[in-house]
Amino acid sequence: MKILVINAGSSSLKYQLYDMTDESVLALGRVERIGMDAAILTHEPTNKPEIKEVSEILDHTVAVRKVLDCLLHPESGVLSSIDEIDAVGHRIVQGGDLYSESVLVDNDVKAGIRSLYDLAPLHNPPHMMGIQAVDLNMPGVPQVVVFDTAFHQTMPAMAYMYPIPMVLYKKHKVRRYGFHGTSHYYVSRKAGELLGRPVEDLKLVSAHIGNGASITAIMEGKSYDTSMGMTPLEGLMMGTRSGDIDPAIVPFIMGKEELNTTEVNFMLNKHSGLQAISGISSDLREVEKAMNEGNENAKLAIEMYDYRIRKFIGSYVAAMDGIDALIFTAGVGENSATLRQRVCEKLSFFGIELDLEKNEIRSGEPRDISTPNSKVRVLVIPTNEELVIARDTYNLVKNK
Ligand code: AMP
Repeated sequence: MKILVINAGSSSLKYQLYDMTDESVLALGRVERIGMDAAILTHEPTNKPEIKEVSEILDHTVAVRKVLDCLLHPESGVLSSIDEIDAVGHRIVQGGDLYSESVLVDNDVKAGIRSLYDLAPLHNPPHMMGIQAVDLNMPGVPQVVVFDTAFHQTMPAMAYMYPIPMVLYKKHKVRRYGFHGTSHYYVSRKAGELLGRPVEDLKLVSAHIGNGASITAIMEGKSYDTSMGMTPLEGLMMGTRSGDIDPAIVPFIMGKEELNTTEVNFMLNKHSGLQAISGISSDLREVEKAMNEGNENAKLAIEMYDYRIRKFIGSYVAAMDGIDALIFTAGVGENSATLRQRVCEKLSFFGIELDLEKNEIRSGEPRDISTPNSKVRVLVIPTNEELVIARDTYNLVKNK
């Protein structure tokens, strides 16, 4: 069975085609700048020549058609007919409290995703464009939606409620949802495999540190608490997002700087975090380089960034009354040995002891980087959200 995985953004569409007989990736690629004058399509089939094309791509429907053309291309294609694609799986950022697992798309599910536009105005509408583009290009092919929030639906109310008037929860569903759920789910299962123990027996803290970043406390295999909230803005300091700040700052700066709600949202999401404090970049590599060259703002940015990661790890150890393993994943977590070292150095109180040599090894494989004496295992586990989407899609359509 072949499954196409799609992640549709407002002006981009990423894809991977899986052969589920061995879960191999036949091709992957992306379309960027959809709706702008020069859209860029990159198609990377396994063991075949790559395609890179710049052209006008008006909307997501045209983007999906172009992707299908690439998959059928005489030299760079991996299919002889579109009918070989058995189903399509989509990543959906916000499933609200409507979805605690992946589902097959029908009219009710489409209405459900639309009803959550208010909660995820930047994400859910483009996801829906992706679903509609598949409807138009591949009529009748089953589609599945996999939600970033679903894994966190197990959080207890004490973790997901905000201490603000209850009416806001009842009327507008203002509560914490959490994100990166597909990634936290995947790495927690891999951690169980790596440690040779059922995930249900483990207390895990999973640190998904990428451009966006979140930390999750996982107990009995379920999300117990997570650092992102109603939106991905809450929690850790990120590449361009502030993470937690005093909520009273928002009306204060709106008044002082004469900002409207869109502007203040933009500032906190796109012009804050590492970028704002370092004044250099949202990319940790660039900020680390500047710090090593003596830049004081870069040093402060990194100290704040690390400090907040440590505080969340510590608070989740307290929340779960223990920890068996700490997992690092995503762009920074998987690749930055220095970040892992800085964070773990100051967690020795918990019995965390990093093996500095193992920490430096780059293998792309799940690995334990703690010393044999460490009371807590420290794991680096490359995440694979697309594979989870492909597997969920496969499981939902295989008996249809
Ligand atoms: P993601 O959002 O998971 O794709 O992660 C992307 C981010 O990972 C980039 O913005 C980089 O800042 C970061 N990154 C990738 N490699 C490294 C590295 N070796 N050291 C520090 N940060 C890295």
